[in-house]
Amino acid sequence: MKTIFYLLLNSLPTIDRIRQQIFIYLIFLVFSSINIYSQELSDQKIFEAYYQETIELISQKKFQEANEKFKKISKLELAFPDELAYYYGYTQYNLGQYMIAKEAFEKYIKLKTDTGRYVGVAEQFIHTADCNLKGYYFNNATCEACEGLGLVDIECRTCKGKGQELCNQCFGRGAIKKRDNFGETFESCKKCIGTGYFTCTKCHDSKHEKGKCLVCDGKGKLKIKKDCNQLPNK
Ligand SMILES: [Zn+2]
Ligand SMILES: [Zn+2]
Ligand SMILES: [Zn+2]
Repeated sequence: MKTIFYLLLNSLPTIDRIRQQIFIYLIFLVFSSINIYSQELSDQKIFEAYYQETIELISQKKFQEANEKFKKISKLELAFPDELAYYYGYTQYNLGQYMIAKEAFEKYIKLKTDTGRYVGVAEQFIHTADCNLKGYYFNNATCEACEGLGLVDIECRTCKGKGQELCNQCFGRGAIKKRDNFGETFESCKKCIGTGYFTCTKCHDSKHEKGKCLVCDGKGKLKIKKDCNQLPNK
């Protein structure tokens, strides 16, 4: 009985059509995803080829041609390796485009923080680019006022350096007024144990707290204006 029912169901033209449509749709999905994937794959291949050619051109000091390659690379919608920013900066620097070069080197340093192999060189290039643009450059130095921490000891703002806070229960009186049938009586304040003050909740009587170093504006580093004659490897 079940088999007959199944055969009957299968032979229904509407169900057949639905199945066919689902099948076609699935085939379409598979093919379109393969298409997107292969597009990305070929972009990646194109990029790798351009990248190698660009590095080769740079090593031959053919900066104008390298720049043309960079224009082609920028049209590819891919995530580029960080070093690309460095090579781009180096190319622009050698083409005398110091402003663009500086931006590229800064971008590279930002991407790489301290771990990039060209970070030191990129910093040097930024200095020479500045010298070419303005005749001076800025060097990063550790702020001595805060020893590079960006924070210094300042007077506690909660207690204004007193170490004690005025009791907010008795308003510093040390006692609380109570009124009953016998008239007014005073009771010792429980919060401050009758003293009118309690230890500062912020600094715990150290009278200090950490605050932003005003010398370096909390950055821990200072930009020191330098003469281009002092530039190393000039
Ligand atoms: Zn009190
Ligand atoms: Zn305090
Ligand atoms: Zn500082």
